[in-house]
Amino acid sequence: DIVFLNGDYLPMNEAKISPMDRGFLFGDGIYEMVPSYGGQLVGLGLHIKRMQNGLKAIGIQLDMGLSEWRDIALNLTKKNGSGNLGVYLHVSRGADVKRFHAFPENIQPTVFAFAFEIPAAPVADKTLTKQFKVNSALDKRWKHCDIKSTSLLGNVMHFQHSQDSGVNETILFNAQNELTEASACNVFVVKGTHIVTPPLDKQLLPGITRFMVLDILRQEPSLSIEERVVTMAEVQNADEIWLTSSSKEIVPVIELDGESVGDGKVGDIWQLAQTLYSKNKFSY
Ligand code: PLP
Repeated sequence: DIVFLNGDYLPMNEAKISPMDRGFLFGDGIYEMVPSYGGQLVGLGLHIKRMQNGLKAIGIQLDMGLSEWRDIALNLTKKNGSGNLGVYLHVSRGADVKRFHAFPENIQPTVFAFAFEIPAAPVADKTLTKQFKVNSALDKRWKHCDIKSTSLLGNVMHFQHSQDSGVNETILFNAQNELTEASACNVFVVKGTHIVTPPLDKQLLPGITRFMVLDILRQEPSLSIEERVVTMAEVQNADEIWLTSSSKEIVPVIELDGESVGDGKVGDIWQLAQTLYSKNKFSY
């Protein structure tokens, strides 16, 4: 496993960072996960733009542009076999000499990246695709879920709740019983040929897969698409529920809190959406 750390490529077990790194002490950093299939990255420019927005939002100055990130991502995929890989990119505020909450001056950000194996890209086949069962919970995370922060304790606790309950994911609702997202995915709801997903605000991550799915499906005349508030009742009465993320693409949900979603089978609109996504994803 060859990783990238602060300008060098080296084996994972030789990569060392300071225990005073603020990523370690405070979760003070930003990350991305970019999928790559056979050496081809999906949505790299969109991921890097989101990372740069996140770095700006938390006041980390890093002089690295898209082409440098692309070199790192492509080098890592080559050095790690060019199969089905997730390329993880991570920037923390860096290592300080003392533990003090305020941003240190003259600190060098820590830049770390590695590639890890992910499952083959899903195929748009109702019988072969992964089908998820999910439960639901009150979203207990902080009020800036639009930032892809390495501080993931809230997400970790929510995801563990799904595992402890024997399901695959937990979808989250705010105190007004409105859908936000899942612990590591965005959520879409389908009724007939109508597809809705919550609008972008501080309650959810602006998912790259979410963006691509919306963009691709808006070109499909047989469907209507809306970004708007989605109520718990709408989720419970949906014909189909989908989860989206970079490594999973579009996953159909067949059970919510022990109840069947729609007829309890993978839906036709999912099949269409995943077909179009598979066809178009490399053009982003
Ligand atoms: N929401 C959360 C909380 C996530 O952690 C992720 C990805 O890991 C997503 C949504 C999906 O985002 P993307 O499609 O950019 O992978």
